[in-house]
Amino acid sequence: MREWWRQLTAGLSLAGCILGLLTGPLMAAEPTDRFDNFRMREGVPTELKMVAPDLYFLYDDLSSNSAFLVTDEGVLVIDTRQHPAHGRDLIERIRKITDKPIKWVINTHAHGDHYYGNPAFKAAGATIIAHRDVVAGMLKNEQLELKRRLAFFKSLKLDPAEVKTVLPDVTFDSRLTLKLGGRVIEILYLGPGQNPGDTLIYFPHARALYVGGPFANSNWSNMSFTPSMDGWIALLQRIAAMDDVDLFLPGHGDVGKRADVLDEAKLLTEVQTGVKAAIAAGMSRDEIVKNLRFPEFANRRNYDRIEVFLEALYHLYTTGKPLFPYP
Ligand SMILES: [Zn+2]
Repeated sequence: MREWWRQLTAGLSLAGCILGLLTGPLMAAEPTDRFDNFRMREGVPTELKMVAPDLYFLYDDLSSNSAFLVTDEGVLVIDTRQHPAHGRDLIERIRKITDKPIKWVINTHAHGDHYYGNPAFKAAGATIIAHRDVVAGMLKNEQLELKRRLAFFKSLKLDPAEVKTVLPDVTFDSRLTLKLGGRVIEILYLGPGQNPGDTLIYFPHARALYVGGPFANSNWSNMSFTPSMDGWIALLQRIAAMDDVDLFLPGHGDVGKRADVLDEAKLLTEVQTGVKAAIAAGMSRDEIVKNLRFPEFANRRNYDRIEVFLEALYHLYTTGKPLFPYP
C-alpha cells in the first residue's frame, strides 16, 4: 500500500468517513449528470402546521418548505416553492385560513425550488423582497437553475415552459424590519452560508427563525454554491447561539431545534475534514467522488446525491471558488 493511502485511511478514520474501495485499480467515476439527478421520495406527506400564533410552516419533504404569517392587515409569505403551480397551491392553502391580501413575499435564496412560485404571488399582488445578492444570483444562474429542476418537473408532470423568473421588487443589504398587523418581522443578512445572500427571517412573537438556505434539517445540503464552508459552519453556530429563538424553520426538512442546527454544522465539518484530508493525501477528484462515504450521515435526505457534493467540495478546495459561483 502506498504511503499516501496509509496516511489517508488514518486521517479519514479520524474524520469519521470511510473509503468504499481500498484495493485494486481505481476506476474513474461514472459520468453522471450532476444536475438532472432528482429521484422521487415517498412516505413523507406534505403538511401545513401552525407552529406559533398565526405563523404557519409548510413542510414539503419532496420539494422545499415555505412559511407564512397571517395578520389582520395581510399575509407575509416566505419562499414560493418550486413551480408556479406549487405557488398557486400555497395561495389556496392560505385562502383556506384568511382572505386578507398577500402583502409581502420574501425569497430567502436564489434556488429555483424556493422562488419558482413567484409568478403566482406576483399575480396575487404581493411585493417581493430579497437580498441584493439573491437577485444577482437569480439573474446569473437562470439557465442552470432551470436545467437542474427539469427532472423534478418531469416526474410531477409540471410544465417547465410555465416557469418564469419573476424578480423581487425590493432589495435590502443587511437588515429590514417590517410591521404588519401589529406583528414585527425582522429580515436579516449575516453573510453567506450555503449561498451569497442567504436571508434569515425572525418572528419575535413566535421566537422563531426561518433559515432558508443554510439550514436543511436532517438533510445533505447542496454544497455547490457556498463561497466558504467555514463561513457556513460559523453561520450555523451563530444561529444556534441565538437565545431568543426556539423554533428553527429550515428550507428543507421538518421544524428544527437548536441541536438540529448544530447537527448540520457537525455534518458539514466532518465532510469538510474528510475531503480536505483526501486532497492532502493526493486523491484525485474522481477517486474522492467514488470512494468517500460518510455512513454516520447516510440516513439523511439527499445522501444519494453525495457524489455531487464531493465534486463541489473538491472544486472549492482546489480552486478557492464554488463550483457555481454567484453573484
Ligand atoms: Zn432548496
